[in-house]
Amino acid sequence: MLFLNSGHIEFQEKIRKIISEQIAPFAKKIDEEGCYPREALQTAVKEGWTAFNIPKEYGGNKKDNLTGCILIEEVSRACLSSSCVITMAFLGSAPFLIAGNENQKMRYLPLIAKGEKASSFALTEPHAGSDAGAISSTAVRKDGGYIINGHKCFIGNAGESDIYVVFAKTDLNQKTRGISAFIVEKGTPGFKIGSIAKKMGINGQRTGELFFENCWVPEENLLGEEGRAFRIAMQTLDQSRIFIAAQGLGLAQAALDAAARHAVDRIQFGTPIAEHQGVMFKISEMATNIHAGRLMTYDAAALLDAGMPVTKEAAMAKYYTSETANKVAYQAVQIFGGRGFLKGFPVERYYRDARVLTLYEGTSEIQNLVIGRIITNEIKKEMKK
Ligand SMILES: Cc1cc2nc3c(=O)[nH]c(=O)nc-3n(C[C@H](O)[C@H](O)[C@H](O)COP(=O)(O)OP(=O)(O)OC[C@H]3O[C@@H](n4cnc5c(N)ncnc54)[C@H](O)[C@@H]3O)c2cc1C
Repeated sequence: MLFLNSGHIEFQEKIRKIISEQIAPFAKKIDEEGCYPREALQTAVKEGWTAFNIPKEYGGNKKDNLTGCILIEEVSRACLSSSCVITMAFLGSAPFLIAGNENQKMRYLPLIAKGEKASSFALTEPHAGSDAGAISSTAVRKDGGYIINGHKCFIGNAGESDIYVVFAKTDLNQKTRGISAFIVEKGTPGFKIGSIAKKMGINGQRTGELFFENCWVPEENLLGEEGRAFRIAMQTLDQSRIFIAAQGLGLAQAALDAAARHAVDRIQFGTPIAEHQGVMFKISEMATNIHAGRLMTYDAAALLDAGMPVTKEAAMAKYYTSETANKVAYQAVQIFGGRGFLKGFPVERYYRDARVLTLYEGTSEIQNLVIGRIITNEIKKEMKK
């Protein structure tokens, strides 16, 4: 692939070996038992994978974003739950890199980079999912700090994380312009972890509720400017959607690999099922869609590396690859026939795990809104000229 240089290919080969030895063997157990992917976390920390976006001066292992995509794609190919330890570290650390002051970056990023503390991004609330600007958690100035009250749900790494970037309204009269971000550490009085959800897929990833009851944090825990944090959230998501796209690529590739191998091996009507055109065409379509998704994802990563705007391209990559992952996993089950429906065959896990990809970090419909708005706004501007 033209996007990749020899360094990328070398990195890909190196991590494939590590993943096959240290992550892939645990994927089935993580799915069946719902246990947290500790082995993957250990490997990710040891290899510097949880710090691929953090510059060296903050204790990180900064790589280009294309390398980040390759990493997440390869881990997702083995185990989507395990890849979440890397995407979660990204999501929890990106707001510090986007808006943190030097003290905040020096204090928290090395802890996240070295895996000493995990981090979470807490935006979603029971009444504010796609419409994130409608959050109703509040932060009111008091005694040199802020008192936070509110309820967050669907928060990745809930309970596992030590550092939470929490979005709350400092001005209830404003919508997005009234939102601020706060660093809240586990154990802060008034901050409690609620229930952890039972899910249909990515069973090793923790998703849970957070409760804030008169939770006081000092003023130095305000991340970025007061009232300007909606932009921090959106910029974080712009970047991290590229890595959700990479998760989709990895899962889809794993499903295609398994299905193609099965199609070559399984004999029906006296010939491998791959020789039946109906099956052969499915394999072709799966591979073509994955390739298209990979081009979009790597293009978005390369744009981010070049410091270019990525909102539209990241949304396109996330939308396309997450939908592709679902379609490919569906077809993989189909190619496996009845066996695809049985526990113990990996395509059954891919089918369930894929489902989250079109939901978290903005649903497919929201990606379409983002893409459509950018295109129509550009046209409106042109028409005004
Ligand atoms: C496993 C998991 C992990 C998550 N991790 C995190 C996390 O770490 N931090 C965090 O803050 N959040 C997290 N989320 C929350 C996630 O981002 C939200 O679930 C998602 O944004 C959708 O919000 P919602 O579930 O409230 O759905 P809703 O917003 O209620 O949407 C329901 C349906 O309506 C559609 N819809 C809504 N508005 C429109 C519109 N304007 N036009 C067309 N269709 C629309 C949606 O696309 C969807 O199909 C996670 C979710 C999951 C499932």
